[in-house]
Amino acid sequence: MIVLAKEKIAFISHPKASLHRMPFPKPHLESFENPLRYQMAERYLEQSGILSQLIRVKAPKATLKEPLLVHSPYLVDTVELMSEIGSGQLGESAYASPDLIRAALLTVGGAMKGVDMVLTGDINHAFVLMRPPGHHASTSNPMGLCYFNNVAIAAKHALHDETIERVSIIDFDDHHGNGTSEIFYTHPDVQYISFHEYDYENFGLGHYDELGYGEGKGTNINIPLLETSPDISYESAINRIMIPALKSFKPDLILVSAGYDAHYSDPVGNMDVDSRTYWRFGHEIGKLVKSVDARGSVWVLEGGYNPFAIGPSIHASLVGLLGNPQPVLEDQLEREVNKLIVESNNEIIGKVLETIKPYLKS
Ligand SMILES: [Zn+2]
Repeated sequence: MIVLAKEKIAFISHPKASLHRMPFPKPHLESFENPLRYQMAERYLEQSGILSQLIRVKAPKATLKEPLLVHSPYLVDTVELMSEIGSGQLGESAYASPDLIRAALLTVGGAMKGVDMVLTGDINHAFVLMRPPGHHASTSNPMGLCYFNNVAIAAKHALHDETIERVSIIDFDDHHGNGTSEIFYTHPDVQYISFHEYDYENFGLGHYDELGYGEGKGTNINIPLLETSPDISYESAINRIMIPALKSFKPDLILVSAGYDAHYSDPVGNMDVDSRTYWRFGHEIGKLVKSVDARGSVWVLEGGYNPFAIGPSIHASLVGLLGNPQPVLEDQLEREVNKLIVESNNEIIGKVLETIKPYLKS
């Protein structure tokens, strides 16, 4: 009898990821990115028993040099200095606390550790449960609750390994990862695919016409979905865009900006998905690693601001990555699907496909 080797997944965290807290009361946006997210997620995963199937690893602290892989020295110096001061504004919705630099460097260290473990072949996948998040941080600007772009730093770090030529980043956070998109906009070796909520009345960043520039043209793929998009729209975008785009690009490594704020109960995002979608991302990315012959995937927490939803959401992703069937979890309520939104999303997905098609290799 052939016994298939079980997927080995590292769970990378650090208790000090709890420390940083911005000085705002609810309902300020800044108040939602708080230590409770980390604590509740870890407690849920512990109590559900899934952590016993994972390899627990304590995140090492990065040095101040690693963020320089993508950020300007001025940004890195400012984050350090303002953490010493212990307060003050670094950018839009990005404020310092005395613990900021420690938490931020541990998160960068955790993301890089995940890459290192995948590259040595010790594990197939890693999930990095750390904070603060990173995908809004651009080369020179902290913003949107983000200071160092953890996933972008991890991608650059991976590309320094001579066996890694191409990296794909899948970002399913509710918001467009403007920082990651900007950092790699001209890079042909990093494919960025972002699923996000998009306002077609005000047209901000994240439109599907943003394809990358120069040699990087065709490597920036935006899937701008409508507010209140349900699970079925995500399923369709995964099948019609994410899977063919990954198969075309054939990355050596997949990084995931794992934001859980598209959950229907999230106080910040306005989408309408539950843990079934988060299982699907785990399931499909696990399969893609095998089908494109990538070395593995490294998931790094971005958003997700309902402390009761973040646990089941991450749990579902991990079950999918382990190669197990979709679990029935307490957040999976039957909700009415708005057919108009589904139809409009199908049109949008069709337009995305049309726009990126010239750049896809069959
Ligand atoms: Zn978000």
